[in-house]
Amino acid sequence: MKIPIKNAQAYFVYDSKKSGGVTVSHLRFGDSSVNMPWLIDEADFVACHNQAYIGKYDMLGPIKEGGTFILNSHIHATEAFEHLTQEMQEEIIDRKIKFYTIDALKIAEETGLGIRINTVMQAAFFKVSGILPEAEAIELIKKAIKKTFATKGDDIVKMNWASVDKAAEALEKVEIPASITKSFAAPELIPASAGDFARDVIEPVMRLQGDDIPVSKMSFDGTLPLGTAVLEKRGVAPVVASWVSENCIQCNQCVMACPHAAIRGETDCAG
Ligand code: SF4
Repeated sequence: MKIPIKNAQAYFVYDSKKSGGVTVSHLRFGDSSVNMPWLIDEADFVACHNQAYIGKYDMLGPIKEGGTFILNSHIHATEAFEHLTQEMQEEIIDRKIKFYTIDALKIAEETGLGIRINTVMQAAFFKVSGILPEAEAIELIKKAIKKTFATKGDDIVKMNWASVDKAAEALEKVEIPASITKSFAAPELIPASAGDFARDVIEPVMRLQGDDIPVSKMSFDGTLPLGTAVLEKRGVAPVVASWVSENCIQCNQCVMACPHAAIRGETDCAG
């Protein structure tokens, strides 16, 4: 099969978190040279890899009229629209955005990849975006998987191949109603009682809008209020460990292994 040659450009914006941190990938593809040294603010396609981002981040803001939105979610396509915020529903209807869901975590678990959903989402992206014909895109992804995981053994390569095949079948198109329906009311990110610094600086940063904070809101001498970490409860992990007290032998290894001291030995092992 003759594979068409495309040019590509990618910028990645990271937050400062470690595990579970947000990465926004800005990808461009084109037949001619792609040399645009700035981030994308009008996208044909946006994929949200975590349902927990709904109501926290502006997922639809950058999508063009008629663009495409894919949501990784365990919620079935027939109910997915109701799990968006009212603002998102209005944006989808007004801008005629096409909306798909995929349960990438389920596929990753079924194929032995655990919580690693990147391969699944990549296959979904190429199926819906139409950048390459689907069969060619899948062939290329599989070749890339083989090259990347060859040293880890055939089993790992086959697990990833299986997740690519399942991704194409698992994509579901969401029927968009003519008007808004019941919707998801996103909880406040920080308590109403939080101070000005939390409202003006911490909350925009938590919403990935830190670039929009005016200089006038920053402290003039660089000092910051203390104890603000308590305000940030991200709740973005797709799977959370549960402490089973009857199994615990009080060895304290979990306390030692947690670099953020999220698990406190002096109280209990549940953190
Ligand atoms: S102290 Fe922590 S690591 Fe040790 S048994 Fe209990 S939960 Fe597990």
